[in-house]
Amino acid sequence: ATPISGNGSRCAPHLVFVASAGMGHLLQCSRLIAALANTGGVEISVVTAVPTVSEAEAEHYAGLFAAFPAIRRIEWKLLPLDNSEFAGADPFFRQWESLRRSAHLLGPMIAGATPRASAVITDVTLASQVIPIAKEELKLPCHVLFISCAAMLSFLAYFPTYLVGTADGDHLAGDVHVPGIGLVQVDYPPKMLRNPDNLFTKQFIANGRCIADADGIVVTTFDALEPDTLAALRGGKVVPGFPPVYAIGPLETTGRSHNDGAIAWLDEQPPRSVVYVAFGNRYAAALEQLREIGAGLEASGCPFLWVVKTTMVDREDTAELRDVLGDEFLGRVQGRGLVTKEWVDQEAVLKHPAIGLYLTHCGWNSMNESVMYGVPMLAWPSVGDHRMIATVIRSGGFGLWVEHWGWDDMVVSGAEIAEKVKLVMADEAISAKAAEFREEATKAVAVGGSSHRNLHEFLAKLNTDT
Ligand code: UDP
Ligand code: UDP
Repeated sequence: ATPISGNGSRCAPHLVFVASAGMGHLLQCSRLIAALANTGGVEISVVTAVPTVSEAEAEHYAGLFAAFPAIRRIEWKLLPLDNSEFAGADPFFRQWESLRRSAHLLGPMIAGATPRASAVITDVTLASQVIPIAKEELKLPCHVLFISCAAMLSFLAYFPTYLVGTADGDHLAGDVHVPGIGLVQVDYPPKMLRNPDNLFTKQFIANGRCIADADGIVVTTFDALEPDTLAALRGGKVVPGFPPVYAIGPLETTGRSHNDGAIAWLDEQPPRSVVYVAFGNRYAAALEQLREIGAGLEASGCPFLWVVKTTMVDREDTAELRDVLGDEFLGRVQGRGLVTKEWVDQEAVLKHPAIGLYLTHCGWNSMNESVMYGVPMLAWPSVGDHRMIATVIRSGGFGLWVEHWGWDDMVVSGAEIAEKVKLVMADEAISAKAAEFREEATKAVAVGGSSHRNLHEFLAKLNTDT
């Protein structure tokens, strides 16, 4: 279909984005939207689910549509889920399920878009639902936005093939040999995948089976960060006939840059002196672990900025810092440490010259932000794709991953945390690598760099398909 405008010239492509839930997903979706909008020559609509899981998500959407008034919002009212079926499930996986089960509403909504839609771009969590709707029902090309590392993408794409050779219920029983990539240790991919009945596992397998049917896959990594993995995917070594993979990261943030108290405090600190501690918007550490982190930061002797989170969903996070960490601790570290439960502008924090180290959960956005500003990392991954992401940090050499540190079945002592913080702060090889990858990231997104070229190649494809 080639929509022709009144005067006979070709119309700009109209891209319809189907966004998912979780800030990690939304932020990258918005960053891609902003990057495409800023290149000009495309029309964009975004399908946004109502209601969102968290306040942060709702606010984020408001910010996106305020910043880009030309982008249209298509509200997608989700059908109610039978909660008894998913009692106790992770609220974000439940939302993904709810989105997936409401996917049949998308066909008519996208068909009714004006101007006529020319391509659909879906978040990976909805791929197996959206690809058939786009391609079979709407006869439109469908691209997938993958919001983690290429290593994780290769695992997703290969996992269904791997399962064919294993007994039922024997999911991920050992290390997995991914063709073209090598051995992936059993405890690197999301742990949930060991349970075939898990909601996430079912979604992951369905999406993995379908992903090769997409017309293209946009990944927020960059060529110099994961060269071998990208080459294997592009060469069809992981899955034969795999669609084109456009590595376009790290994407520039859409900048809600508010100058909060954290930045003012950082302005007072010496360069490269501060340890920034944050574990993303999806993970809350146990109380005992939080106290050990506090003890470790105190014992490290470094100034620190610590974003504390005590529940998974922000609406439910009502605990007071003093109840969590105690008045004594807060009193002792006053001035030297800034502890907050507020959402900080993390990008502005990582960009700040006072930051010397990021103690991170290894969320993909967080890792990219840290790479972009050359901040060395102390990696403390556990859930989801975080251990796969830690392998990228390790192979890049710009951080330290203490592999035996877990979250669920152990408590890492304050003494050990302090020791590793001091170790990485003093490690010149790590900071040299961080500086090198900062250069690489900067080059990749600059005009003529690999991510810049890949984004334009993707745009060219969208134009040819229109
Ligand atoms: N993921 C995927 N396919 C799916 C669902 C999730 O590849 O069907 C990926 C997702 O991109 C992420 C990982 O699985 O890389 C783990 O998801 P989780 O939500 O735990 O991570 P988060 O988004 O919180 O970082
Ligand atoms: N973030 C932020 N302020 C906070 C906490 C998080 O700006 O107080 C942002 C952070 O910069 C990152 C995103 O939220 O861009 C978290 O995504 P990531 O993939 O790192 O981790 P997730 O929370 O999805 O596990």
